[in-house]
Formats: sequence, C-alpha cells, structure tokens
Amino acid sequence: MTPMMEQYFEIKKQYKDYLLFYRLGDFYEMFFDDAKTASRELDLTLTGRDCGEAERAPMCGVPFHSSEGYIGKLIEKGYKVAICEQTEEASQAKGPLVRREVVRVVTPGTLLETNLLTDTQNNYLCSVYLGEFECGLSFADVSTAQVYATAFSGEDMLFHLKNEIGTYAPSEILFNVSLSKIPEVENFLRERSNALISDNQPFRFELDDAYKRIEQQFGEDTRERLEKEKAMAASLGALLGYIRETQKGDVSYIKELNIYGDGQYLQMDLNTRRNLELTETMRTKDKKGSLLWVLDKTETAAGARMLRKWIENPLLSVRKIVRRQGAVGEFYNNFMLREEAGVLLSDVLDLERLISKIVYGSANAKDLRAVANTLRIIPELKNLLSRCESEELRRLVAELDELSDVRERIDLSIVDDPPFSVRDGGMIREGFSEDVDYLRSVMTDGKSWIAKIESEERESTGIPKLRISYNKVFGYYIEVTKSYMDMVPDRYIRKQTLANCERYITQELKDTESTILGAADKICSLEYDLFQGIRAFVAENSERIQKTAANLATVDVYRALGAVAAQNKYICPDVDESDVVLIKDGRHPVVEQFTKDTYFVPNDVDLNCKDKRLMLITGPNMAGKSTYMRQVALIVVMAQIGSFVPAADASIGIVDKVFTRVGASDDLASGQSTFMLEMNEVAYILKNATKRSLIVYDEIGRGTSTFDGMSIARAIAEYTNSRKIGAKTLFATHYHELTSLEDEFEGIVNYNIAAKKRGDSITFLRKIIKGSTDDSYGIEVAKLAGLPNEVIKRAKEVLATIEKTSANLRTGELAERSVEIEEELTISFEESLREQAIEELKAIDLNTLSPYEAMQLLFEIQRKLK
Ligand code: ADP
Ligand code: MG
Repeated sequence: MTPMMEQYFEIKKQYKDYLLFYRLGDFYEMFFDDAKTASRELDLTLTGRDCGEAERAPMCGVPFHSSEGYIGKLIEKGYKVAICEQTEEASQAKGPLVRREVVRVVTPGTLLETNLLTDTQNNYLCSVYLGEFECGLSFADVSTAQVYATAFSGEDMLFHLKNEIGTYAPSEILFNVSLSKIPEVENFLRERSNALISDNQPFRFELDDAYKRIEQQFGEDTRERLEKEKAMAASLGALLGYIRETQKGDVSYIKELNIYGDGQYLQMDLNTRRNLELTETMRTKDKKGSLLWVLDKTETAAGARMLRKWIENPLLSVRKIVRRQGAVGEFYNNFMLREEAGVLLSDVLDLERLISKIVYGSANAKDLRAVANTLRIIPELKNLLSRCESEELRRLVAELDELSDVRERIDLSIVDDPPFSVRDGGMIREGFSEDVDYLRSVMTDGKSWIAKIESEERESTGIPKLRISYNKVFGYYIEVTKSYMDMVPDRYIRKQTLANCERYITQELKDTESTILGAADKICSLEYDLFQGIRAFVAENSERIQKTAANLATVDVYRALGAVAAQNKYICPDVDESDVVLIKDGRHPVVEQFTKDTYFVPNDVDLNCKDKRLMLITGPNMAGKSTYMRQVALIVVMAQIGSFVPAADASIGIVDKVFTRVGASDDLASGQSTFMLEMNEVAYILKNATKRSLIVYDEIGRGTSTFDGMSIARAIAEYTNSRKIGAKTLFATHYHELTSLEDEFEGIVNYNIAAKKRGDSITFLRKIIKGSTDDSYGIEVAKLAGLPNEVIKRAKEVLATIEKTSANLRTGELAERSVEIEEELTISFEESLREQAIEELKAIDLNTLSPYEAMQLLFEIQRKLK
C-alpha cells in the first residue's frame, strides 16, 4: 500500500460512519465506498487511483473551493462528512507525506454553515437517554447556542418522548438504546421525522463523563443542580460530548442551559399541535395556513425563531402573560412606533448565528462587519423605545447593551466591504495599524524608494552614471561602469562582473528589496493576525452579544404581535386564574384570513368548570363545527402566548393543557388501525386531562359501527364531564342521540350550528346557537356538494323507507348513510353546480329572506359559480 493510502486508512478508521473528504491539492478526494456513495449521490464521475494494491481504488473528488454545496447536499441526504485537511506545508513535511488531520466534521444536527441552515428555524441536535423508568432528553442548536433539557418518567414516557421530538423536530438524534427495543418510537420516527439517527450508543451516555462535561460547559452550579437528575445528566452529557467531537473548535459560546419541565408551559401533545396547525398545516406541512403564518410579521430571523418557540410553548403564568400583553399593546396602539421599529429591525442581521461562528472561529471579516452594522441600530432603537411605558419594554430598553466598544473596534479596524477570504488581505482599515499602512505604502511606493536610493547613492559616491536595475536572478542591484570602479565604496558587495561594468548590492538595497517583495506576503499574514485578534475580542464579548441578540429578537416578536393585532383587529384578552373561557364574537385566526373576500361569521363561547363544562355541538356536515372548536382552542393558546386575539371581547382563565382529538374519518392517519389510534389518544386524554384543561373532541367514535361508536362517544362525554376530570370540553358529534345528555348531567349544554333548510337546499348560517338539532341535513349537504340529482333523489327514497321502518334508529343511521353516500361520490360536477346555482337564484323568495341569510346565500351561490 502506498504511504498516502496508509495515512488515509489510519484516518478513515476513526471516522467510519462519515464520508471522509481527503484533501489532495485543490480537491477533496473520496475513496472506496465513500467514493461510490458520493458519486451516486452527487452525480460525480467515479475514477480510480493507484493505491499500491492490485486493484485501483475507486475515487471521486470535488474542488475544495466549491465543496460547501456538495457537503450541503450530502448532509441533506442524511450523511455525515469529515473534512480532512493538510495541516502542514509541503515544505515543512518531515516524511514523504504531509500531515493531515480531520479539522471538522459536518453532521445535520451540528451545522454552523449559515447557507445550509434555514433562517427562521432552529436546527436541533437531540439526545435521548432512555432508562427503565425514566427518560432524559436534551436538545441543542449549536448555531444559536441554545440548549434545552428535560426529563420525565411514568407509563406515558414514550408518548411524551414522541411529543417532544415531534415538537422540536431535530435533524439528528442520539439514543443510548437500540431503536429496535422501542418499536413505538421507531415507527414514529420513520413516519414523522427525517432525522439522522445514531442509536445503541451507550458509551456516549456514561454518567461520570456527563458530569465532567456539564461542569466544564455550564459550571459547578449546574452540575450540582443535576446531581439528582441522572437521566437528564446522561442525555446532556452525550449531547455535549457529541458537539465537542463534531465541532473540534471552541464551543465555549454555549453557556446557557434551559431546563424545562411541567408547570412552565401550556402542555399540548403532538396530535393537538398538529391538529391546531400551530406551525404547519396538517396536510401539506406548509407554514402557510398555520397560526405561525398569521402571526409571523417578524423582521428578523432570530425573531421568527423566537416567535415559533413562543407559539410552541404558551405560558401558564398570568403575570408573565400580562407583561407580554403590555409590550404588544404598546406596538398595537402606536402606529409610528411599530413602523419605525420595523424599519430599524429590518436591518438587524442574525447576531445569534454570527456570534457562534465568531467564537468557533469560522467567521470572516464580512461577518464582523455584519455584527457592527447591526449594533449600529441599537442606539436608535433604544431611543425610539425610550418613550414606551410598559414594564416589559422598559426592561428591554434598560437591558439592551449598545456594545459600543465592540462596534467601535470593528468599525475602526475592518473596511466597509471586506473580501470573503480572510487570507488575502484587504480587510484592515487604513489608520488602524501602522504596520499595515506601511506595508501598503511599500507596495505602492516601492518604485520611488528605489529611485530615491539611486539618487542618494549617486550623490554619496559621486558616480554620475550609477544605476539601479532589476533582474530575476539578483533582484535589485547597483551598476557601475568600469571607469568609475575606483569610486565604489567598501560597503558595496560585488555580485557580478560584466565586460564593461560591475554589479553590486548593498545591505540597504537588499533590505528595501525584501521589504518590497515581502510586503505582499507579509500584509496578508499581518492582516490575518490582526483580524484574528479583533475576532477574538468580539468573541470575548459573546455573552453580551448573545444577550443583545435575544433582546432584539424579543422586541421584534412584540412588534410583530402588535402589528398583527392592529392589522387583523384583535383585542387584548383578560387573562386570569379563573375557570372561565368567555369569548364574544370570536373568529378563527387562520380561516378568517382565507375568507377575507367573503365573510367570517364570528361566534361566542361561554365555558366554565361548573354549570357549563361540556358543550355538546351538533349540526350538519360542513356547518362549521370543527372550525368553531379549533377557533376556541386557538384563541386560548394565543391568549397564553401573550398575543391579542381575534374576538370582540375575551376573558380567559389559564388553561393547563389543551387536547384535541379528531374522529378517525376526519383524520389522515397513516397505516395503523385508525380506530385503535383514536382510542389510544382518547385514553391518553382521559388519563392526563385535569379540571383546568381544555378538550376538543371532534366526532369521536366514527371509526366503528354506529352503536359501538355512539356508546363509546357517550361514555367518554359522561366521564369527561364527571368529577373525575371536569375539564372544559367542546364535543362535536353526529350522534344526535347524545343530546339527551343535557337533561341527565349537570354541566352538559347542547349547542348546534344553525343551518336553514329551504325546500331542497340548505343555507349554512355558521352561527352557534343553544339547543340541539335533530336533523343532520346530510342529503342537502350532499346536494350542495354537487351529487347528481338522480343520486339525491334515490337517497331521499332510501331515507323515507328507513324512516318508516325504523323510527328509533332514525338520525344516527341516517346521518351516517348520507355521509357515506356523500363520501363515496364526492366528485364535483361543475355542470350540475351551475344549474343548481341558477335554480337556487330563481327559487329565492325575497320576502322571507333576512339580510344576513341573503349574504350567506349569495356567498354559497357565488362559491359554486367560482
Ligand atoms: P364541520 O366540522 O361542521 O363539518 P367545518 O368546520 O369543517 O364544518 O367547516 C366547513 C367550512 O365552512 C370550512 O371550510 C370553512 O371555510 C367554513 N366555515 C366554517 N366556519 C365558518 C364561519 N364561522 N364563517 C365562515 N365560514 C366558515
Ligand atoms: Mg368537522
């Protein structure tokens, strides 16, 4: 084997599960299996290289200057890359080979490369320690220096674990155990996550190492705090160990550990989050259509990330919520304030990620300039905010560090538009370093210096024809013709004798020469040294800069929430410790955005923990039940974020947990028995809900036969309403039989969403009213959906027969039948829709129509025509 291949294998041995980028000249080369993988994934030509063995080694390579793009692609496809560089100059090498070392490894969960990261989203590495009875879990975003840790135990441990992983959506996960031992989690990850997983790694989770690392990274206090939290410590230890292993640079900028657990945030399981579409829609997983999409009017990347975090973690403390409301209110009330703050914030760059790069040592001069340019805004922002009166904004203003020392240092030292490379000079501002200025002047003034030496030498020696010239062999030399030989002073050193002249050098001339020739090289390394010094100075202030970054992001979030509230006409809810959820004219924050050109019908809600605990909601399909219930949950969530809410008036008693469960046929469940899944989730709700919780049941019990489903739905409603839970509950059902519960149990109140039958057609009023309906209007809805008249007619016949033969089965069965028919044949028949619209227009009796109904009718007709 060739020595180079030996070196390669030596290094590759330590990076078995990485693709090894081995630096050879201007390329990174990959060999053997790595080469095959890379050529396949990156579409590169596979060649071979003589490696001293009989067969040539498969090889492929990428140019080093464009390597980032290739690395990015590999990371995206779930590979890890180790970058092996030459770490000595060829001229310094002792043996036949230059030394090479892996200087950085890139993995999906430990990225610092800004162009491989999504601006508005955190990129998490996750570490899971799963013990017999407890689970320790931690997350880190190394690009923003945020670390979170938690632990939990008990029978719902794995459920909880899935929730957390689902919420953070990490891109890489370490497990101490083998995934095959926890099929429930394995399945979950396969379906819902793209994370790169390293499981069965108990060696990473050694407790002794963990405590050492925790102390080193976060200090003695934190270690002591985690003395009893062994599972959390083990997980955190593995996380920190992996970060150090991958970063190979300074990770001291990760200083803050956030330990979280019960009692701090409003709890929502993963299904609830998905269902409420907090940060992405259920179907397309897009941000558009989610609550985040409505609220995200942030100007900065860090602000966007923070808002997302807030939405994922609404608060429980009234005091904290009210503080946030105060700050939001300030921006809400003051148009100029939010406009001007918006303009200033739009110039704020991603300080959180910049400072990580700076401390880590991968930031260039452009990054330092970005920091300075951002810091420049702070005095203006402080000035603007100084008029604010809310406690929270005043705290922020007081804490906003102008960092003028850091900014001045960068301003004085780095030019306005420095080059990308840190090795080629051109970064340092004139006047910052005498040496740099001198070297620059040398480079520009070199010629005139030589001329000056020439005239000085002429004068001092008295040789009139003395000349200084240059050639490649000798460099600069003094030439004296033979006739003046006797006038040459002793200090001249003879270099060459020609036919009619002699060539000399002097010490001064050689010094000047090396100054001129070396200036170019010297200036690059001098500028690099200076730059490193400045970068180190900025790095020393990383804690202050991180704090400032967080404060700017917070201001940005408040401004955004204020702007959204003003734009969408939200109001500030009263938040307190009561057990009441009272909303007047509430709207669905997302649906109302999509119905802007029509009209979103506002609705009230009035719930408490006493006589109005459970709203039993009936009404035809498409009436708006699901929308209504989600709207209530979303308004509660928004209120606890500290946001204003879409309503005319709202009073929200703090809710500890929100649960939503959507009946099987409404859910896009995957693979598994949907009914089983549904019941699993209901079981979880019944076990975990408290009196202070808010539960949304949307047509549960659909996935099984009618009697089964109805019985289960009824039992669940009774149990939820009973003292055992007593949570505030919204319960939509197509089982009209359940409306009799109102008379049997205190706390249950019937509601329905009004629809009006007019002959054969139906108008949705979308208004929630007290009382029950016993008609499901299934056939009318089917007609509206555009089923051919023939089918509608037949459905009516069937209905009539059923009504005659089994009067007591009536509504439940019927509803189901018509829904079935509708579901089987939901194909839109444009033609028949158009016909219908015309029919409907003709049939309108203008004398019996209220203006409100008229609007609804017009809306429906217009929709069909569209
Ligand atoms: P259900 O659950 O009763 O079948 P949905 O809640 O799915 O009905 O609502 C059906 C459609 O009606 C929604 O897609 C929405 O566009 C519209 N809608 C619901 N509530 C309202 C409302 N309050 N105002 C206007 N349109 C509404
Ligand atoms: Mg529904």
